[in-house]
Amino acid sequence: MKLLLIHTGGTIGMVATPTGFAPAEGVIEAALADLGASHVTLLPLLPLIDSSQATPADWNRIAAAIFDNHSDYNGFIVTHGTDTLAFTASALCFALAGLKRPVILTGAMRPLTVEKSDGVQNLSDALKAAETAPPGIWVQFSGQLLHGTRVRKAHSSALDAFTASRSAVPPLQPGKTPSFTAYKPAEIGILSMAPGQSEAYLAHALTTLDAVVLRVFGAGTIPETPALRAGLLAAQARNTPVIAISQSPKGGIALGTYAAGNLLLEAGVIDGRDMTPEAAYTKLAHVLSLPADQRQAALARTLCGEVSASRP
Ligand code: ASP
Repeated sequence: MKLLLIHTGGTIGMVATPTGFAPAEGVIEAALADLGASHVTLLPLLPLIDSSQATPADWNRIAAAIFDNHSDYNGFIVTHGTDTLAFTASALCFALAGLKRPVILTGAMRPLTVEKSDGVQNLSDALKAAETAPPGIWVQFSGQLLHGTRVRKAHSSALDAFTASRSAVPPLQPGKTPSFTAYKPAEIGILSMAPGQSEAYLAHALTTLDAVVLRVFGAGTIPETPALRAGLLAAQARNTPVIAISQSPKGGIALGTYAAGNLLLEAGVIDGRDMTPEAAYTKLAHVLSLPADQRQAALARTLCGEVSASRP
């Protein structure tokens, strides 16, 4: 059994510095040696980062490392900061298709270099999961194996920081052989509704962005202001994809329930159902990286379990 561990940074491999915890080389190496994990090859993606600094270019580097090494290893582990781990997990699900191996993301809330770190448990669980989990993108954290496009960081300090709701579809895009669609630069924004929000801000965002995640209220309502109406209709006229998702962490939206959400239907906004913000954002980034004639179909489909039930 040969495993490849791609180390990107994050708390798990951090040391204390005068300005706070920061990534350092050598920490993961020492932990692997302590675990006797001689079947694991380490690939550090330098410079190691706090995941708050991650960009789509980092998603591309991780996805490329998995794609390029796919046939040489039985499984992959990605050690990553927890702050944007859910974005990266979703991003990998959309970028990679036809994987025949499990890819396990993990990290820690306390560095391996401090006492009572959760890093050893998470790392050794991730090594096991990389041998036993089904093909796809998973997050191993605090004893749980979580779905890559359903996962969220739900707690900023507890050791069991991640949750994921269920999906009938595994975190994997099918394909005969592995393929990799790299993320291309795009102007994507997450626009969250709030009572009395700046009209200028809404108008600017909706008339300039390439794609928008619209975080609406509850089951799918929005403040029907003139700026929002004009902005959503302008986005529709420019073929700008807009995915609506709920600000409520559970339940998702059901467009058509309330008259106060009718503008979303009128403006052709995509029903994001119970997609997470991370999945909606990375799905838009992926779709904009596809050839123009494939975008509509990709937006209309569930690609890798990003909603809890697949569309009929
Ligand atoms: N700020 C850190 C990061 O996301 C937090 C962590 O890893 O837990 O890289």
